Amino acid sequence: MGFFDKIRASFARFMSGRYGADQLGNVMLWTGLILSIIGSMAKLGVVTILADVLLVVMLVRMFSKDRYKRQHENQMYLEKTYKLRKEASEWMNRVKNSKKYRYFTCPQCKKRLRVPRGVGKITITCKGCGNKFDKKA
Ligand SMILES: [Zn+2]
Repeated sequence: MGFFDKIRASFARFMSGRYGADQLGNVMLWTGLILSIIGSMAKLGVVTILADVLLVVMLVRMFSKDRYKRQHENQMYLEKTYKLRKEASEWMNRVKNSKKYRYFTCPQCKKRLRVPRGVGKITITCKGCGNKFDKKA
């Protein structure tokens, strides 16, 4: 067995039964790294400390053997941020499709509606409530 195989094997042994990475861990990692950069550039000690705390907590969770508790934390995080993550991904979609579609909000029920670009003046019928309104797309 080569040197790197030994390292890989001992790391696998070390990680067995431990929790590892999850969505909450990823967010902590990236937030920690970004805060750490901002903190050191702006010379804000508090932000740097906060970044360190986040990264330490992230590592502690990753190496934790209490999988049940860590899974529960991740579940809580996913539930609490569901709306925000959904809105962010909708926004990303809108940016991605902005050349093909125009987006309108129904004035009555606030449902978001998508219309192909370049069709001119049209009457949009809301899929949610059936309200009709004129727009230029
Ligand atoms: Zn509507």
